[in-house]
Amino acid sequence: MSIRIKTPNLDDIFEKWKQKAARTDRKKMEKQFGTKGAVFSLDAISAAEYVKDTMKEAAIYFAVKKSLGPAPTGKDENLVTAPRVGREQYYSFKGAGKINKENWKENEKVPHFESIQAVPCKNCKGKGYLEDKCKTCKGTGKIEETLTILVGEEQKKEKKPFSYPCGACYGTGNRTEPCKECGGHKNMYKYEILPVPFQTVVTGIPILHSSAQTRYEKEIGEDLHKIIEDVEGIKFSDFKELESKTEASLGYMNKNISKTIGAAKTDYRKHEKDKDAQITSQIYLFPMIQMMATTKRGTKFEIYSLGSGNKFMVYSNF
Ligand SMILES: [Zn+2]
Ligand SMILES: [Zn+2]
Repeated sequence: MSIRIKTPNLDDIFEKWKQKAARTDRKKMEKQFGTKGAVFSLDAISAAEYVKDTMKEAAIYFAVKKSLGPAPTGKDENLVTAPRVGREQYYSFKGAGKINKENWKENEKVPHFESIQAVPCKNCKGKGYLEDKCKTCKGTGKIEETLTILVGEEQKKEKKPFSYPCGACYGTGNRTEPCKECGGHKNMYKYEILPVPFQTVVTGIPILHSSAQTRYEKEIGEDLHKIIEDVEGIKFSDFKELESKTEASLGYMNKNISKTIGAAKTDYRKHEKDKDAQITSQIYLFPMIQMMATTKRGTKFEIYSLGSGNKFMVYSNF
């Protein structure tokens, strides 16, 4: 079973617009609709005379609560040699308070200055060099030679050892090499790429999709959002139901309305998947009337209505 929603009467929409426009700017109304030398009266301004074209459209609305806040979580770490520390751009938020995400143009995770930390090099155990046996003296610290001595008149050959300190290790038997890992700087340096501390702002956002070809969708959506309880539409909890009941509910259908339902559905799914967003309302379907009007002076303007004959809102770019 579907509920057929009654579209507002064109004269009622025009009347509601006229009263609102006169309250907002009576002078402008006089200028656009008045007659020179005659007393200005709102009664003389009728839809029949000034509305040139009317389209029956539809609008789909739902509200989303979006939290702009610490979306990124987790951290990344980098381990670099001392000379490479200075190649990174660091940020500090110490005492700076929370950051407004709207104003932040950099990455959502950045290297934090306060996270820089020395880590003793594992390769050299924090010494900066590696010790090894001297290759020249095989770790003995001495170079050993055997001299052949000629002894006495007979010059009998005799071997005698001769040793002297190794020049490669200054007689220590050990040689040191700078550590290739830390480049001799003893430490490696660790820093963290952490989320920027954004402040959490929760905002309610109206989402409006309309089949009317209008530049004012955003403005209409915002106006509607404020008075949603005072505008009658048909509420659905899912798009499947909405799709099957739109035509019966409105009593009319067109290609643009079908397209609009498709676009709204895609948008809805996108918000469902967004972990920072929460859909806070049901899906509303509204009859939408778009009127193309011209003032007595020839100025073109548009009037829109959203809602049923009982409860509707008007929007105009007049
Ligand atoms: Zn090292
Ligand atoms: Zn040596």
